[in-house]
Amino acid sequence: MINWRDLPPVPEAEQPDFPEDFTPSQTFLRHMDQCDRAAMLHRVYGGGAGSAQLNRGSLFHETADRIIRLSIESPEEIAHPRGDYQPTPEEVADQTSRKVPPDLGKVILAEVMDEHPELQVPAEERDALRYLIDHFCRAFDPPPPRQILGIEKTLTLQTGGFRVLIRPDLIVDRGGGLCEVNDWKTAWPPDSESFRAQAFDAAGRPRWAGNFQLNMAAVVIAYGLTDDGLPLGRFDRYRLRLAFPRILRQDGTLDERVVEVDALQLAAFREDLDRQLRRLREVCIGERRWQATPGTHCSECPAPNACPLPRYLRPESQHAALDSPAALESAAGAWLFASREAATIKRRVKKAAEELDLDAVTISGGDEELAFTVTPKVEIRDREAMLAEAEDASREGRPFSREPFIRRTESVEFKKRKRKP
Ligand code: SF4
Repeated sequence: MINWRDLPPVPEAEQPDFPEDFTPSQTFLRHMDQCDRAAMLHRVYGGGAGSAQLNRGSLFHETADRIIRLSIESPEEIAHPRGDYQPTPEEVADQTSRKVPPDLGKVILAEVMDEHPELQVPAEERDALRYLIDHFCRAFDPPPPRQILGIEKTLTLQTGGFRVLIRPDLIVDRGGGLCEVNDWKTAWPPDSESFRAQAFDAAGRPRWAGNFQLNMAAVVIAYGLTDDGLPLGRFDRYRLRLAFPRILRQDGTLDERVVEVDALQLAAFREDLDRQLRRLREVCIGERRWQATPGTHCSECPAPNACPLPRYLRPESQHAALDSPAALESAAGAWLFASREAATIKRRVKKAAEELDLDAVTISGGDEELAFTVTPKVEIRDREAMLAEAEDASREGRPFSREPFIRRTESVEFKKRKRKP
């Protein structure tokens, strides 16, 4: 009998290749933080199929990166015509402004979309991207260039027998020993209360950033090296900031969730990361033991159909835990996807049944069937004339017939019903 809580090793031929210089990505480690098997599946399937949300995130990040670089590295180009963007006389006159106007931001977004036709996003997501960039341009206040420590800068850290790598969206030296790590999020923000409960303890002290990616980023920034082999610098505190361009607040800033941690907390988190990586090397890769641990994260599994656990043991993969707005949003999205899928499958079954000249198709394993059902319908052609005739007939004492006023039709529906014995 299989012990679902301690699965046997993955057969050697099924374990993906982990070369000596394997560099676990943040996404790989984020999966492993919650389910070892999900991390392995991420390695096998390369993150799974794309999605409109992932593509939206990629397009937004590329555009935001260009907007930041423009305002930091070549602000003199801001007041130049570009695509459909024509700077106003005020923008041309103001040579000191380093803010990228929203209309220019949208032109840059269009350029990024043209350069990446493979990143398919539907009309509603394209619309969302335009207002996300609009909000971002309005809110982004470029820090002085000397404070910028990195825009999508690669940092690496040798720890736990691996080299881990991060590329935060923007790192800023805010002075006074404070380093700010920014991460733009294109989803809706988590509600403040659940974020507070996740990120702070009962006394209001930050527990951790509530986001594995930001924690790891702060650890690698604190202890790691840049491409040129140098550390970023010494800081006492790290501000981990998730910014949500979905919401532009009244004061012109983006909605955000912020946690500040000190160097001592990061030391503890580094130890934790180290332990995870040792487990990866010795237990997961070494013994080929990739335990599957279900939870709400199953909704983000790279390949849930390749999970060794039967579905009844992982109800969370079917959105059982609906305990936050984000989980509800994800479940609602899954419902929409599933209902569209269901409609498509039913349409295909119906078409095939017509071609095979079948009256009904048994639903596998059950006593129900999908059947062509004829339902008679009665349509009144002229209600007023029919009522007038009924009134006349009753006044004159003659029989009334509604037949001349109605049309009888039949509708054929392909629907579920109990199978006849
Ligand atoms: S479905 Fe859930 S338990 Fe299974 S591999 Fe994916 S994340 Fe792990």
